Amino acid sequence: MSKSSYNAYDEARAQFDQVAEKIGLDEATREFLRRPMREYHFTIPVQMDDGSRKVFWGYRVQHNDARGPAKGGVRFHPLETIDTIRALAMWMTWKCAVVDIPLGGGKGGVICDPRTMTDREQEQLCRGWVRQIAKDIGPCIDVPAPDVMTNAKHMLWMLDEYETIHGGKYPGFITGKPIGMGGSLGRKEATGFGVIYVLREALKELKIDIKNTTASIQGFGNVAQHAVKLYQQLGGKIIAISCWDNNDHQPYTFRKKDGLDFDDLESITDPFGSIDKEKANGLGYEILPGDAWIEQDVDILIPAALENQITADNVHRISKQVKVMVEGSNGPTSRDADKVLAQRKIFVIPDFLANAGGVTCSYFEQVQSNTNYYWEKDEVMQKLDTRMTSAFKAVSDLSRQKDVYMRDAAYIIAINRVAFAVKSRGWV
Ligand code: NAD
Repeated sequence: MSKSSYNAYDEARAQFDQVAEKIGLDEATREFLRRPMREYHFTIPVQMDDGSRKVFWGYRVQHNDARGPAKGGVRFHPLETIDTIRALAMWMTWKCAVVDIPLGGGKGGVICDPRTMTDREQEQLCRGWVRQIAKDIGPCIDVPAPDVMTNAKHMLWMLDEYETIHGGKYPGFITGKPIGMGGSLGRKEATGFGVIYVLREALKELKIDIKNTTASIQGFGNVAQHAVKLYQQLGGKIIAISCWDNNDHQPYTFRKKDGLDFDDLESITDPFGSIDKEKANGLGYEILPGDAWIEQDVDILIPAALENQITADNVHRISKQVKVMVEGSNGPTSRDADKVLAQRKIFVIPDFLANAGGVTCSYFEQVQSNTNYYWEKDEVMQKLDTRMTSAFKAVSDLSRQKDVYMRDAAYIIAINRVAFAVKSRGWV
């Protein structure tokens, strides 16, 4: 987890306020968009396997649904907080708007540790979460998805409970379902590939041949692994990866200056994206401190692990060689650090644009589930590429035309789209 003083909701509101000021958003719309439209807080009693009853706290936040049903994951985490969920719901609103998909922003969570719960207990928790909110979510209202420590299995239990309550088949109620049970091909790859689609476009604009670039990445989980795979396929060279070591339980940076081998590294990575340090050493990797990924002499940095990783404390360690930073993770850069990146003219592709491939593919899953017709993988990836590329172009065009920082350009587009929907509906 990140530093305890960090409050994601404060950060999300501060980012919003800054852009609202810049675009001269009227007071009422500002007031309306800087907090969620609706929040649900509820208790979920679960009978545990030892016969006792435990009461869990559950949440769902719908930040804004002016452009379409709210969309966002459900997180299971012992340190979950309502403020984190609020911030993430708000970021979902901007993310869906910047890639121009007809969805709003939502997020949910339960304070629990699924790692210490049996499958049966987790199933009861999923069903309990849906029972408490079944009337206020649904394919046309708010569509949940997997997130931290929830997966396809949880989604299917939630779907089953929802369909039981509503007496019908509603596969478009939730996304992240298993393939063959309403899931979309390509979802696994979508976020990481999306990160590289927008990086590819940025490099084209900067007239840099991807084949002549090197990169350093933080994380080797779902997002990072697929990003590494596609970046290497396009000819780029990754020289360092930072991730958790599954013996010492702390992060290390694994470096190979002539380029790492994806298959080698994958073979020593566990399902949570942790690498075995001893085995990496055996494969010829240099083992450096966990935060060394940030100071490598590379052209591209890709934070794809956690929030609040590039801060005023370490931003000065970024090499002069770095030209592009593409944010795979949510909120990796603090506002102080962001100012430094902007001054240094590093081309930043902001998180809610760069990692929007995941929600875009979830939207495709919804479309497929609602029509009960499933696409081939090539079709999914092609549509994803088209959507990410056009979103990137809109942001970078605005950034150039108005001479604004890429993050601000992305926010301006997203906030303007949502404000337009809110005003057109006559809500403010
Ligand atoms: P994941 O759990 O699959 O992987 C996380 C990776 O980060 C692991 O390799 C882990 O070892 C590494 N890590 C954890 N702590 C670290 C530390 N202190 N230093 C270095 N590495 C560390 O997660 P993911 O699904 O790949 O998500 C990564 C980020 O991307 C998160 O911020 C997530 O919110 C965001 N994101 C994910 C998706 C998605 O579709 N999975 C979509 C949008 C945004």
